[in-house]
Amino acid sequence: MDFTLKKFTEIITSLKKAGYTLHTFSGFIENPPETKTVILRHDIDKLPANALKMAQLEHDMGIKATYYFRVVSYAWDEEVIRQIVSLGHEIGYHYEDLNITKGDYKKAIQHFEKQLARLRAFYPVKTICMHGSPMSKQDNRELWKKYDYRDHGIIAEPYFDVDYSEVFYITDTGRAWNKQSASIRDTVDSGFDIKIKSTSHLLHLIQTNQLPDKVFFNIHPQRWFSPGFAWAKELVWQNVKNVLKNLLTEVARRNILNTT
Ligand SMILES: [Zn+2]
Repeated sequence: MDFTLKKFTEIITSLKKAGYTLHTFSGFIENPPETKTVILRHDIDKLPANALKMAQLEHDMGIKATYYFRVVSYAWDEEVIRQIVSLGHEIGYHYEDLNITKGDYKKAIQHFEKQLARLRAFYPVKTICMHGSPMSKQDNRELWKKYDYRDHGIIAEPYFDVDYSEVFYITDTGRAWNKQSASIRDTVDSGFDIKIKSTSHLLHLIQTNQLPDKVFFNIHPQRWFSPGFAWAKELVWQNVKNVLKNLLTEVARRNILNTT
């Protein structure tokens, strides 16, 4: 059984054993560590209760991570945010303002400011991270072609401020590891060609020191459960979504071919 909280614990334990120290994103940016480093990022797209479970588990293991919250009703849970703050983790804004305002830049930056202030009532937010919105035609990062997040007290955004030729990016988007067809926007220009076939394979790579010294994990707590009904539901739903995303990437590819 994969994508269980037990497997997640094994990943963290193996990383620590292999000599990595774990950091929040702002911690990594502000004090770049010299040693073997893992940045741990969680995007809260939905099911905030799962995020709290993961945050508690990490707290018990003595590590800190960064939790990026969307402001849509099914991701936003003030009690969960409050508790994750009290466990010592970093909170950031998982922004999608351009999608929400349907591409209106002026409204989008106003929306951004307002939501950032809402989140800052709980935590002094210093980093943000885009939500990929695979079903939408707008790329939320385009907001920064017109505006600058640094004008809003933001020090870094993972898609802009990390050198991925040096930091190996690993995401669980699509309920697999670095699954290209499922990650329409959640991809980076990686300097590494390392395939991860499964979580067992990932554990093997960690345990045999085959991962680079700097690794950036993007783990969505919504996929990680203790085995049971919710776990099975996520498995089935993700398979359906992967089929849809494959279709979308194929359509996007053909559109690009048609216009070039
Ligand atoms: Zn997201």
